[in-house]
Amino acid sequence: MGATTIVTRFAPSPTGHLHLGHAHSALFAWRRAREAGGRFLLRIEDIDPVRCRPEFTDAILEDLAWLGLDWDGEVRVQSAHLPEYGATLDALSARGLLYPCFCTRADIAREIAASAAAPHGPDGPLYPGTCRRLPADERAARIARGEPHALRLDMAAALATMREPLTFHEEREGRLRCDPARFGDAVLARKDVPASYHLCVTHDDALQGVTLVTRGEDLKPATDLHRLLQHLMGWPEPTYAHHGLLTDETGKRLAKRDRAATIREMRAAGATAAEVRGRAGE
Ligand code: GLU
Repeated sequence: MGATTIVTRFAPSPTGHLHLGHAHSALFAWRRAREAGGRFLLRIEDIDPVRCRPEFTDAILEDLAWLGLDWDGEVRVQSAHLPEYGATLDALSARGLLYPCFCTRADIAREIAASAAAPHGPDGPLYPGTCRRLPADERAARIARGEPHALRLDMAAALATMREPLTFHEEREGRLRCDPARFGDAVLARKDVPASYHLCVTHDDALQGVTLVTRGEDLKPATDLHRLLQHLMGWPEPTYAHHGLLTDETGKRLAKRDRAATIREMRAAGATAAEVRGRAGE
């Protein structure tokens, strides 16, 4: 295997059964790897214990195998690697790039309502920075009391580490400029979930040597933040290929709640794997 071997991955969150949109995404990544004699990895992004369920993980593996997709190596299950994400958070913290945020959703909503401007980023309204301004002794006392807190990226501090503008390489478009500031002080660890999607996905893509990140174009804005995390952690930069999202006959995006479009229901209704792959755009 040469240094330039292509490595792709499919990284679903087990919050429900796979639908046609997932099949499209999985086939896209799988085909790119197989056509190039590269590696296709499967990763289960189940760090949110409230939304993810183990039975959906089992169903994902079964549905992919039924579709005829094979993956290389072990399936990485994120919930089994929490200490690794914790170590990344510690490294960022030690450099003064994170701060604890004690705010509740209601606190944040109140603060935003009271302010004149309420800018929005790809993940929702931008955090107004309340806890960034806490005096160090108050911060320490609240942590010592065991007050629940999230960890936020100090975006201004993170951007101050940059010597030149961040970009990413989108396969069919070339170099695109990143604007991570539009995420504001992004949450990298939630009160109830020890690490965020943004942190875990970039950590794992680096650890697993993913060279081509393929995913739906709905996640394209997140790439700006992912590139910043890669820069901060000194992780390699993959190429990105964001693909279009499957829509139904009326042009509406296929969502997980469209039960008719789950792979297992189509299978139960008698569809063959080839038919489902065809409907998934193969
Ligand atoms: N786990 C994410 C999802 O299911 C996808 C992560 C990615 O491909 O970057 O939406």
